Amino acid sequence: WFPNKEYRLVMVGLDNAGKTTTLYKLLLGEVVVSQPTVGSNVEQIPYKNLIFEIWDLGGQANLRASWPAYLRSTDAVVMVVDSTDRARIGITKAELFTLLVNKDIVNVPVLVLANKQDLKDAMDPAELSQALALHTIRQHDWHIQPSCAVTGEGLLDGLGWIAQKLK
Ligand code: GDP
Repeated sequence: WFPNKEYRLVMVGLDNAGKTTTLYKLLLGEVVVSQPTVGSNVEQIPYKNLIFEIWDLGGQANLRASWPAYLRSTDAVVMVVDSTDRARIGITKAELFTLLVNKDIVNVPVLVLANKQDLKDAMDPAELSQALALHTIRQHDWHIQPSCAVTGEGLLDGLGWIAQKLK
């Protein structure tokens, strides 16, 4: 099997958003119990005739400063959001918009995973889009995808959107 193309994705989001769970669910179809990510995890995920090399950047506050270093030569950004984390939605929004002005990712498509949709008090995609002011994004194609990283629901649909955009 020879993949047609390899793309590089960076996955960002606050700690506890579900990045590591998302990565390993995509890779193994399994939920991996993980320690908070220090540094980064990287895995190659086959998707149809493509390979996505996905970088899971540590989300802890003191690590967020290192995000820009990973952005050079990335093909897409995936932001994972804990849809129940209303208390930190403002911080999430600030991180997103700080990231989006980075000149290394001009025009790069942005997928927002509205994660933890299985939880009762999760914001739905419409509410989350509003809270993150996604409609004010100008320099990027963006898409919000409801997901549950534990079951995998929505994850392949999200990759499908990215694949479509990168065609
Ligand atoms: P990270 O810090 O962004 O890498 O977050 P993790 O992947 O370590 O997940 C943080 C916690 O949220 C873990 O206990 C996960 O099992 C849990 N989690 C992740 N995604 C979901 C989800 O979609 N639904 C639920 N209920 N829990 C999730």
